[in-house]
Amino acid sequence: MNLRAAVVVLVATGLSLGLPPEAARAQESPRIPCAAGDKPCLLKLLASHPARKAGFWNPVLARPVAQRMGPAPRELVEYLHIDNFANGFSEKPRASALKDDFVADVRGAIADMPPAVRRVFGDTFAGVWFVDELGGTGYTDMFRDGDGNQVGGFVVLDAAVLNRFTANAWATWKENTPFKPAGGWALEARIEDAAQDDRRGAIRYILLHELGHVLSINRGIHPRWDMAPGDVSASARFPFFELSWTIDRKESRYASTFDRDFPMRRSIVYYLGAKLAASDMTGAYASLGRTNFPTLYAATSPGDDFAESFVSYVHTVLMKRPWEITVRKDGKAVKTYRTCWEEPRCAAKRRILEDLLR
Ligand SMILES: [Zn+2]
Repeated sequence: MNLRAAVVVLVATGLSLGLPPEAARAQESPRIPCAAGDKPCLLKLLASHPARKAGFWNPVLARPVAQRMGPAPRELVEYLHIDNFANGFSEKPRASALKDDFVADVRGAIADMPPAVRRVFGDTFAGVWFVDELGGTGYTDMFRDGDGNQVGGFVVLDAAVLNRFTANAWATWKENTPFKPAGGWALEARIEDAAQDDRRGAIRYILLHELGHVLSINRGIHPRWDMAPGDVSASARFPFFELSWTIDRKESRYASTFDRDFPMRRSIVYYLGAKLAASDMTGAYASLGRTNFPTLYAATSPGDDFAESFVSYVHTVLMKRPWEITVRKDGKAVKTYRTCWEEPRCAAKRRILEDLLR
């Protein structure tokens, strides 16, 4: 079980992934000793895989944070194959052949992060690894120590996808995915000023979101993402989660405390097929402004609430970068939405983030 963003859609939205470099094409597919559809066999294989063990990642954890990156190691590629196979994704990831300028952008993206951010990941972040044909742009999973405790996480990004985006182009693409396109309507996301609207900025923003997932591991922020909502202990406390979410135990699903006034929330689906009409853009953002979710994606699940809150807070408050959504109808701006960190609605979440990054 893992968190995966931006699946399959790349084809649907007209982005071609391009041909893999020769070095990557030469890699062999690992043999998987389970039949297709034999979920118990595949899940067991995943749970016992080296990529899920602290022993495998300890040498990486010994490196400085900015050096925990590179083409995905062989074991991780194998793990991703099994995971895609188990989830019915046809993509067969390959370790990326990284160009020097891309590596420089990733190192730069990590170096740009405030010291408090790099510090908080020292013991738990097992690196960012690049593949082509991930079946998504980003992926985070946990690993365990010898006693079976979840102790940290690793991040996988699709280098071929990242290669083609600047920060604002990526953010605009992503923020449009919940809405069905319709003539006259446009939604624009601006997360960098024109002079800094580059690939490094896109990588930094995407990585900060995934780091938010890594940060949530083992800190009682929200229930574990590999657990069904109905199985979460009734006595467990999750201070961040409880500011926005409740558990519908009968249906085994999460509900937000804003659902009565924001019924559209349940129809917010990123990446995998829009459910909302383009004409819902203004209403969705008006409703969002009456919640404590910093972004629309944050309203989709407890895990992404925290990951989005983390990147939004670090990006806009600590790094003082822009973040703005503009909805236009026939070229005229009809709705502008900005993050909430200076507003009372997000004050309690901000205090938790400040404590984590102290
Ligand atoms: Zn996420």
